[in-house]
Amino acid sequence: MTVLLTPLDVAKVREDFPLLTHPFHGKPLHYLDSAVSGQMPIPVIERMAHYQRFEHTNVHRGVSALSQEATDRFEEAREKVRAFLHAPSVKQIVWTRGTTEAINLVAQSWGRANIQAGDEILLSAMEHHANIVPWQMLANEKGASIKVIPMDDRGVLELDQLEALLTPRTKVLGITHVSNVLGTVNPLKAIIAQAHAKGVVVVVDGAQAVPHVPVDVVDLDADFYAFSGHKLSGPTGIGVLYGRKELLETMPPWQGGGNMILSVAWEKTSYMGIPGKFEAGTPAIAEAIGLGAAIDYFNALGLDRIAAHEHALLDYATAELGSIEGLRIIGTAPGKASVLSFVLEGIHPHDVGSILDHEGVVVRAGHHCAQPVMTRFNIPATTRASFAYFNDRADVDALVAAIRKVQEIFGAESDDTSAEGQD
Ligand code: PLP
Repeated sequence: MTVLLTPLDVAKVREDFPLLTHPFHGKPLHYLDSAVSGQMPIPVIERMAHYQRFEHTNVHRGVSALSQEATDRFEEAREKVRAFLHAPSVKQIVWTRGTTEAINLVAQSWGRANIQAGDEILLSAMEHHANIVPWQMLANEKGASIKVIPMDDRGVLELDQLEALLTPRTKVLGITHVSNVLGTVNPLKAIIAQAHAKGVVVVVDGAQAVPHVPVDVVDLDADFYAFSGHKLSGPTGIGVLYGRKELLETMPPWQGGGNMILSVAWEKTSYMGIPGKFEAGTPAIAEAIGLGAAIDYFNALGLDRIAAHEHALLDYATAELGSIEGLRIIGTAPGKASVLSFVLEGIHPHDVGSILDHEGVVVRAGHHCAQPVMTRFNIPATTRASFAYFNDRADVDALVAAIRKVQEIFGAESDDTSAEGQD
């Protein structure tokens, strides 16, 4: 049975984002950079401000009603994350500063206890540096090696090679759910099942997935799943590590201090259970509450409706950009998420990004913290437009007009000998 979704009322949604009506270089702002960081809607900003005005003190400390109130709000936010990921228990939700810290936690705690010399760490060719560098540091320390699942020219992983890459020495697979450069949505469930059949632990980077794809960590059977609040229209400085209970319970703490202990004596310190043993020091309280409010906001809009809107916009943008001569889209996997990377013939992405910026179109230009992806496609960088639920066709039209302007400027310059040397 086909279920018809009422479309998102984007004009109404946009009223929640004051920045979108704020002139930028004297022009209307077209924010097409949600993959770098989502904008926060007013209900999230106000929820955090309310906490700061009326509810703030430290959590998990003291008997005062105020401390209890702050702790309750903080723990309620953890429950919202649990429900959002469909995790079995709040004990499996560890607060971190973001995806990067969550993956470092796994590498430093689980990894240092379980990876030995000669072991193999398998990563995909489309990982963000956050899911590469922590593993390289661990591999260097332990004498382990890194192997890579390759991808094809569309940005689709070559999974026919997975079986051979999962050797008896493979201990862990680090894989992104959605690529931040290519938009590829990886078929995680099948990949995880294949890895588990060989006893390999799977660490998923969910940073780019959570705003676009409903996530069920139990259905995926992920061992670890990491994401950042700011990619989900929440604040910076807060993120999440979900972990399988049996793994989290056997992992040692990775940072020590207050808040994570049961008792401390000169002779011996004992630690809290999960998740407390991984949360040393005062946490980002307002930010956790803000992330809870962002989840409420997403739930109210409806992830299915968001996905339908973004897919329609991506189709429109792909067709419009596809009609521009000299423009090549990088990342053409079927069913991709709303990330559109491209290169313009003869024009460096940094120049494209700067001119677009002056036209009020905010995109990202660079290697997107995924230099191996740039190497794979033999390009120095891309310009990337990423679409969120508050974007509309006017944003795409502004992008297209601004790209044409870039081509006009560079076309004019290339007629002029002084424009030599653009790499
Ligand atoms: N992984 C992916 C796929 C990302 O896009 C990002 C951020 O751009 C990260 C990890 C790192 O996130 P954070 O900087 O919030 O830790």
